[in-house]
Amino acid sequence: MFDYNTMRYIHLDFHTPGFVNVGDKFDPVAFGETLEKAKVNAIAVFALCHHGYAYYPSKVAVPHHGLQTDLLGGMTEELKKRGIQCIIYFSQNVNEAFSEAHPESVAVNSDGSPVDSQILLSGNELYWRWLCPNRGDWIDSYFLPLIKETLANYYTDGIFIDMAGFLPGSCYCDSCRAKMKKAGLDINDPDQHSDFMAKTNQEIARKLRVLLDGVRPGLRLLDGCFCRLEDAPLAKGVLSEFYLETLPVQVGWFLFPFLSRYFRNIDLPVMGMTGRFLNNWGDFGTVKTAHQLKVEVATHMAAGLPSGVGDHMHFNGQLDDAVYKIIGEAFSFLEERQLYCVGGKPITEVIVPLPKKLSTHAAIMAKGIQHAFDPMTAVTGLTKMLTELHFQWDVSNEKMDFPECGAVVLNHDTCELETVEKLERFVESGGLLVACHEGLKAKTAEATRKLQAMLGIKSVRMLEDPGVYYELKDSCLKKDMPDMPVYTHTRCYKMELEADVKTLAELALAPCVRSRENFYGHFHGAPDKVAGVAAGLRRRGKGHIVVIGPSLFFSYMKTGNAHHITLIRNILEKYFPAGKRRIKTSAPGIVELALSRKNENLVLQAVPFVASRRHVESFEVLNDIVPVHGVTVSVKAPFKVSKVFDPVSKKYLKFTEKGGWIKFRLPALKEHFVGLIQR
Ligand SMILES: [Zn+2]
Repeated sequence: MFDYNTMRYIHLDFHTPGFVNVGDKFDPVAFGETLEKAKVNAIAVFALCHHGYAYYPSKVAVPHHGLQTDLLGGMTEELKKRGIQCIIYFSQNVNEAFSEAHPESVAVNSDGSPVDSQILLSGNELYWRWLCPNRGDWIDSYFLPLIKETLANYYTDGIFIDMAGFLPGSCYCDSCRAKMKKAGLDINDPDQHSDFMAKTNQEIARKLRVLLDGVRPGLRLLDGCFCRLEDAPLAKGVLSEFYLETLPVQVGWFLFPFLSRYFRNIDLPVMGMTGRFLNNWGDFGTVKTAHQLKVEVATHMAAGLPSGVGDHMHFNGQLDDAVYKIIGEAFSFLEERQLYCVGGKPITEVIVPLPKKLSTHAAIMAKGIQHAFDPMTAVTGLTKMLTELHFQWDVSNEKMDFPECGAVVLNHDTCELETVEKLERFVESGGLLVACHEGLKAKTAEATRKLQAMLGIKSVRMLEDPGVYYELKDSCLKKDMPDMPVYTHTRCYKMELEADVKTLAELALAPCVRSRENFYGHFHGAPDKVAGVAAGLRRRGKGHIVVIGPSLFFSYMKTGNAHHITLIRNILEKYFPAGKRRIKTSAPGIVELALSRKNENLVLQAVPFVASRRHVESFEVLNDIVPVHGVTVSVKAPFKVSKVFDPVSKKYLKFTEKGGWIKFRLPALKEHFVGLIQR
């Protein structure tokens, strides 16, 4: 029986242009042995790639010109024999062969040009043409029949539909224009346009679910078209699971922890997915160190999720044994730990309500589109801080309440009216609410009025200054802070506050807003006039509210300024309600701690992250194993603890107990520690 929680999945990319021979060295037995040895228990193999070629003798799609064998047939047969879950891959909206034959179905930019370029965050350009599902009937006359043909002829446990999205800013074809007009939607409104495009792809996913259930009910369906946060709940009944494709070099180290904490609360299984490559997908000739891969998959476990690793097969049809030696090390490491670490119930101290708009599409952009405020950077700045401060945190959806947690952090204009009402009850009963920058506003004007009345804010307005200074006035927040005005490097809301809001930090501005006509030295000017309150405190019922004008989380992500995280730490520690803390530690910020409950055990995980120095054009790599020593952890246990057990080393750890807090010292941390705190 396949257990989703112990899945170790390979996403075997195979985008192969028409000018090479394909599969002349494919050996099914060697293929299966390599996977089995590497502890792989699920894999996606290709029926149809971005180049638009089929890897079997298809009558619907163009079989690859150089295909030497029925590659799909060879792979699926071998997987079935060995009991490895098989997922068949199809590229939906990127299909070069089809685009070449049917330019009339290619998506269109607003200037009428074809959509044929994507810019990655790294600046690299991809040359894929994108099809528009609304242009012609190719979904019904080509794509769905192709999937039917494959399912009729080959064994599979499900399908993976890639590129079920659209490039931001497209499509402007006549058909999209007409359909939007008919539905009363404005194609020039970016939100309405992207909603329409997302819904177009979601309709296709629903057709796929019907098709799959007609073949064999319950076949897995992986599809990225529900990846916008507000759309995720719509995936229920359509997708079998979410996959969080978050190669660190593509999206940074902090998107996965955020996305995982949102998607794990949607009632569908979720898988973390990274890649074996040093850089992006298809970075042939590179493989991460086993150490780095272990740390990456340990991060999936810390979020309670199983793992997938991306690979790209050589056109000759052979897996690279050297690559699978390293993947095998990481997967053996997972096999020993997943049983305890995946699928538990997370313990939560801090909740972050979900941002209104955040799409994993943000990792890829159309040419020339720039965003002034990057919500991904702001949200990942918060992720980085909470992780480094070791607070156990989760991302709420609209349905979640904030019952057990001690604090809620708002850093987006995310709240609906009913969320504001929930927050009022939360604070009245003793909770801590921290509202920072965009979090000073809510989703609608009415919700904003209600939120700001609770926060003690009469009005806010965005200052022109590209950065501001804050200077602490409250002595209890000065611990480890420099006694000087601290600059933020990001813009700030100026708050007009009610009289009962106490000033924690004053706001100061430079003498001028820098321009060509009026500038001060190299950068911003030195701090000059006090311009109100940067951070304030309000008591409300039994709880506390802290309001912060500057965008501290965004600034921390951009600059790494240690004083911003120290200030947030001091605020959380000072005003966090007594009795709501669940974990305390001596661990440095580079160690991630995760606390969950599984099978009557409290499970503590620790993942250290020690990277090497980098050049401005490189990315953090984890080449050396540098053990972190001397970390102590105290955990609030809801039961009388009899033992703390490390199931990997099979050793019991000494612990002390005081007032319900169990304190123990972790062994030297190399890649991952798991401890079971038992009755
Ligand atoms: Zn279109």
